[in-house]
Amino acid sequence: MATKNNRSWVEAPVVESEILAAALDAESRRHERPYVPPKRPFNFGRWFGATGWRHVVGLVVVVFALFPIVFVISSSLNPQGTLTGSNALFSQFGLESYARILTDPQVPYPQWFANTLLVASITAIGTVFLGGLAAYSFSRMRFTGRRFGLISIVVVQMFPQMLAVVAIFLLMSSISDWFPAIGLNTHIGLIMVYLGGALGVNTFLMYGFFNTIPASIDEAAKIDGAGHARIFFTIILRLAAPILAVVALLSFIFTVNEFAVASGGIGGNHDLVREFWPERMGVAPERLLSGVPAHVDGRMLPIAERAGARLVNGDRMWHYTEGITNWDPVWPEHGIRILPGPSSLWFDAEGRRLPVPLFPGFDTLGTLEHIVATGHAHSWFVLTQKIIEKEFALSGSEQNPDLTGKDLKLLADRLGSGAPGPVEAFKQHGVDFVVADTLPELFDGMRAISPEVPIDTDNIEREIVARDRELENEFSKDLQLTAVRGARKYRGDKLIRVATPHRILDPKAGPLIAVKLHVLTRKSLGGIQTDLDSRALASDGAVVPGLYAVGEAAGFGGGGVHGYRALEGTFLGGCLFTGRAAGRAIARG
Ligand SMILES: Cc1cc2nc3c(=O)[nH]c(=O)nc-3n(C[C@H](O)[C@H](O)[C@H](O)COP(=O)(O)OP(=O)(O)OC[C@H]3O[C@@H](n4cnc5c(N)ncnc54)[C@H](O)[C@@H]3O)c2cc1C
Repeated sequence: MATKNNRSWVEAPVVESEILAAALDAESRRHERPYVPPKRPFNFGRWFGATGWRHVVGLVVVVFALFPIVFVISSSLNPQGTLTGSNALFSQFGLESYARILTDPQVPYPQWFANTLLVASITAIGTVFLGGLAAYSFSRMRFTGRRFGLISIVVVQMFPQMLAVVAIFLLMSSISDWFPAIGLNTHIGLIMVYLGGALGVNTFLMYGFFNTIPASIDEAAKIDGAGHARIFFTIILRLAAPILAVVALLSFIFTVNEFAVASGGIGGNHDLVREFWPERMGVAPERLLSGVPAHVDGRMLPIAERAGARLVNGDRMWHYTEGITNWDPVWPEHGIRILPGPSSLWFDAEGRRLPVPLFPGFDTLGTLEHIVATGHAHSWFVLTQKIIEKEFALSGSEQNPDLTGKDLKLLADRLGSGAPGPVEAFKQHGVDFVVADTLPELFDGMRAISPEVPIDTDNIEREIVARDRELENEFSKDLQLTAVRGARKYRGDKLIRVATPHRILDPKAGPLIAVKLHVLTRKSLGGIQTDLDSRALASDGAVVPGLYAVGEAAGFGGGGVHGYRALEGTFLGGCLFTGRAAGRAIARG
């Protein structure tokens, strides 16, 4: 009896005879002429109706698709170098643009292009590979948390990616502290961010496609001894080639396509600050301190301009007048801003008290205008130990280790006696500080660090004595004292920000302190003009395609959002909101 295993042996003669017959039949017909149907005469109408119209549609689509490329080529040959205003195709011809981007060291275009290709290519390959691995696991393996993982991917996709920006930035910032090579401002860091952002949606896309590949193929391979790696690389990846190509292409286009200029302001470039110094403020001071790192050099702005963007409000700046030379600098000409409470007496370089209402911390731009008008680059705070302990805060993360390090013990020290550590360090090491027990000693110290300007020390003494006298008077006419008393009505300020009013010349409040204050460059309110979607605008108001500007590079619209004179402490908000607007617009496509 034929068993399951030997049945083929029994049936074999029958099959063999059939094959033999078919072969003989084919051999006998080999010399016969094949049938050729009679040729019909060519009819254009019939051909066009059946096939020809497709060629026409194809041609129209090709012309449509090529048009932007023709437009870009025409613009690149336009010596004016702008995208807008070049609607008349090839009306002007010149190779200047090519020469400039290939040779100008200020515009290292080949380098940018290579960087873009590198980042976009690695991102595309990485996205496909990592997404493919994840999709394979979800599609082919059964493990605890699989369903939850899949649902999480879908749910996470429902939130705009911009929500993650702050978290990603903080993460990268922490990574920078430990592994600078893969942190902020590195190619690897950028690629990691792109990869993380793209993984969810692409995994889900590939998961759907992988599910359409029959599992029986994997099973057959497994019977032949293949493991997961072999099945994934040699079977699934090959069968899934179409979706891999789509994901790689989308990822590449996404990475290359949009360009947001977030290069900051111009404060680190004193030449540029001087060039754009506002006319109404006369001439920029001879000496400026840098309140921002050297990389905040405004280099990107003329580059964006050459790409067609319009720069506006260059003369709107926000610089501080309470700058002190950093005794432990991080960047060249590093200055730190004192965030002063209201009690220090403020004198100009020659010893005249600043007019009302230019008290410490009251009106940054007004004080700047006043000091520059004196013709000198510096001014003076005169105060006491009691004031410095409570009223001097220093701007900058490294100057506030308690806050930036979330160190509660250090924070508690602010309530105790003595100045905070970083302030005390400045008092001891800073070149702009004079500490003395008596007024004559204080004046000697001031003259020693400012020999170039004669100081009317008699006037300073007169002002101090007059101000101290007003302390006895509850209805004082010294408006600064009135302001101090007003500030202390707010419990928070009374606790940690405003010293108890006391006589400057009271020895118990001493020693006396004088601080030489410089103008400190900080923020730029001019920059690339944008619309409310942070899209860069050209001089004719048209949108420059694909170019966005955020943060100080966009100059907060010249201060328009908050108001030019009301910007204190709101810059980060402006940066975040313009970034969010750009992100939303880019996501909308
Ligand atoms: C000490 C200090 C204290 C401050 N305190 C406050 C505060 O209390 N409140 C507040 O609201 N604001 C504050 N600011 C201001 C605020 O920090 C800035 O307005 C804000 O950081 C600007 O952000 P941005 O992204 O526009 O530019 P930036 O933070 O300056 O970042 C610009 C980035 O672009 C990079 N870059 C520049 N040029 C190029 C180029 N050509 N190619 C590639 N990359 C480039 C730079 O390396 C940098 O990483 C402070 C600033 C400083 C310096």
